[in-house]
Amino acid sequence: EKPLLEKMPPDQEQALTRDIEAEFERLKPSAASEDRRRKFLDKLSRILNEEWPGHDTKVHAFGSTENHLCMNDSDVDVCITTKCKAIESTCKLAAALEKRGMERIVCVPGAKVPIVKIWDPEYQVACDMNVNSTLALDNTRMIKTYVEIDERVRPLALVIKHWTKQRVLNNAAIGGTLSSYTWICMILNFLQTREPPVLPSLHMLPHKKKPPNAGVDISFADDIETLRGWGRDNKETLGELLFAFFKKYGHDLDYEKNVISVRAGNLLSKEEKGWQFLQNNRLCVEEPFNTGRNLGNTADDCSMRGIHLEFRRAHKILAEKGHLAECCEQYEFP
Ligand code: ATP
Ligand code: MG
Repeated sequence: EKPLLEKMPPDQEQALTRDIEAEFERLKPSAASEDRRRKFLDKLSRILNEEWPGHDTKVHAFGSTENHLCMNDSDVDVCITTKCKAIESTCKLAAALEKRGMERIVCVPGAKVPIVKIWDPEYQVACDMNVNSTLALDNTRMIKTYVEIDERVRPLALVIKHWTKQRVLNNAAIGGTLSSYTWICMILNFLQTREPPVLPSLHMLPHKKKPPNAGVDISFADDIETLRGWGRDNKETLGELLFAFFKKYGHDLDYEKNVISVRAGNLLSKEEKGWQFLQNNRLCVEEPFNTGRNLGNTADDCSMRGIHLEFRRAHKILAEKGHLAECCEQYEFP
C-alpha cells in the first residue's frame, strides 16, 4: 500500500478551495427559498393564534433554518411555545392544521419529543414541529454561534452536509446513519482540534451562567462580538480543511477509544465517560447539553463500517485527483 498523503500538492489544494467556494455559492439557499420559509412561519403563527386565541402562542424556528446551515431542500424545524393544552396534544394540533390546508400530516405522539410533521403546499416547505420542547433552541443557538466565529465554518459545513446527503449518510431515523445535527458536531469538533484550532469550546470559555432549561445547563459563551475571528491563527484553506476532515475520520481517529466532545472541545475517552459497553457505541459523539447521550448511536456497527469506507473513499479521491464533484457524486445503489 502507498503511504497516506499528509497534504495535497499546492496547486491541487488551491483548485479544491476554489471548487468548495463555488459549490458553497450553489448550495446556499436562494433569497426566494428563505422568503418561503419566513412566510410559512408567519402563516403558522397566524393559524395557531386564530384557532386558539389568547394563549401567548409563539412559533420559533430552530435547526438549519436558524443556524446558517440551510440548503434549498432543508425542512423547517419549529418549536411552538404555548400555554394552551389543546396545542400540547399533538393530535389536536395535527387535526387543526389539516383543516387549514396543510398536507402529508404525520403525528408522532409517543416519541421522546412528540412531533407533528406537515407539508405546506402553498409555500412548498416541509416542517417538523414540537410543542414546548425548547432545548433544541439552545443547541441551535450554540451551532449558530460556532458558525459565526470563523467564516470558513459555513462553506466547509455546507459542503460536507451536501456530501453526506449525496452519499446517503444523513438519515438517522430510517437509514441507520447520522442526523445533520450529529454531522455538525463532528465537523465542529474537527475544527476545535486543528493545530492551532479554528474554533474554541464555547462551554469552556468564561461565560455568564443562565438558569437551567428542564434541568439542563444551557449556558455557554455566546457573545459573538468578542468571539469573531477567534481562530485567525489557523491559516488553513478550505481545501486543506476538507482534505484533513476526511483523513481524520477515515484514517486517524481511533474509534475504539475516543468520544467526540464539542463541549470539551476535544476528544474524551470511552473509559472516562463509562461508554465502553453502550449499545451502538462504535461512533461516540457526546450531545453537548445532555452529555449522557451518544448522538452516534443511530448507526450500528454495520452502518459505521459503511460510513468509515465513505470517509476513506472521499479522502482517496481528493488525494489522487482533488475533484470535489467526484467526491460528492450521488451514491448508486448496487
Ligand atoms: P437539515 O438541513 O438536514 O434539516 P438541521 O441542521 O436542521 O439539518 P436536524 O438533524 O434536522 O439538523 O436537526 C434539527 C435540530 O434539531 C438541530 O439543530 C438540533 O437543534 C435538534 N436536534 C436534532 N437531533 C437532536 C438530538 N439528538 N438531540 C438534541 N437536539 C437534536
Ligand atoms: Mg432540519
